[in-house]
Amino acid sequence: MKRLLPLLFFVPVLFLFTRCHRAPYAETNKQYRDSAHRFAREIERNPAGQTMATAQPWVGAVNFNLRKPNIVVLHHTAQGGCDTTLRTFTLQRTQVSAHYVVCREGVVHHMLNDYLRAWHAGAGRWGNIQDVNSSSIGIEIDNNGVEPFSEAQLAATLQLLDTLRRKYAIPAANFIGHADVAPTRKNDPSVLFPWKRFADAGYGLWWSDTTNVQVPTGFNAIDALRIIGYDVRDSSAVFATFRRKYLGREAKGTLDADEQKVLYTLYRKFLQ
Ligand SMILES: [Zn+2]
Repeated sequence: MKRLLPLLFFVPVLFLFTRCHRAPYAETNKQYRDSAHRFAREIERNPAGQTMATAQPWVGAVNFNLRKPNIVVLHHTAQGGCDTTLRTFTLQRTQVSAHYVVCREGVVHHMLNDYLRAWHAGAGRWGNIQDVNSSSIGIEIDNNGVEPFSEAQLAATLQLLDTLRRKYAIPAANFIGHADVAPTRKNDPSVLFPWKRFADAGYGLWWSDTTNVQVPTGFNAIDALRIIGYDVRDSSAVFATFRRKYLGREAKGTLDADEQKVLYTLYRKFLQ
């Protein structure tokens, strides 16, 4: 019995240790599986959905697959570290999530199946799409909003985008930032995000050399920004978002002649 006593102490401690350190998300992972199962059962049991009464007997089509995402929205977390973000996305009361979290050292957490709707874009709009969450994949890059993005993190993000582009055939113009879909509320990813590097790799469109560019008389910056995809109801917010992303600076006010040239060359890309 004496020899068993240390064991009686050790085993529960070991149990607690493994529970805390090896499976800290066991409980929320179960919640994920329960929710995924509930949605799968709903589709299986109720093929016609709740939209309207259907003719009886029900006739199901046999040719189908899952809908694909067609937009990728990049964010910065505005938090101090990946641990905080993982915790945020596993607490129901926060009501926010993303499909992927890319940590500073380049580790990628795939938190939600790409076919499911994450809650990352909030009230946002891109072109005529008013439910950005339904058609997009959300990627949160671990960054506090005022620091440079790490090289390991950018490389991992580019690799992730390559996978998504191939898998879902997402067009270059549809790799955008959170600020693009919510210019009045958001500024992420921050002014330090290297959008040109990403556009050069095929994720986003970029402007061309403006040396010999003549902006036509009657060119309307707001119309051009609308065609690019922006919700232009607050023009000063859109100008600030455009400057942050394409010119790498934070400033208010309408676009000057040189900035209009940049916008004009960019807008031409969106017409192609
Ligand atoms: Zn965001």
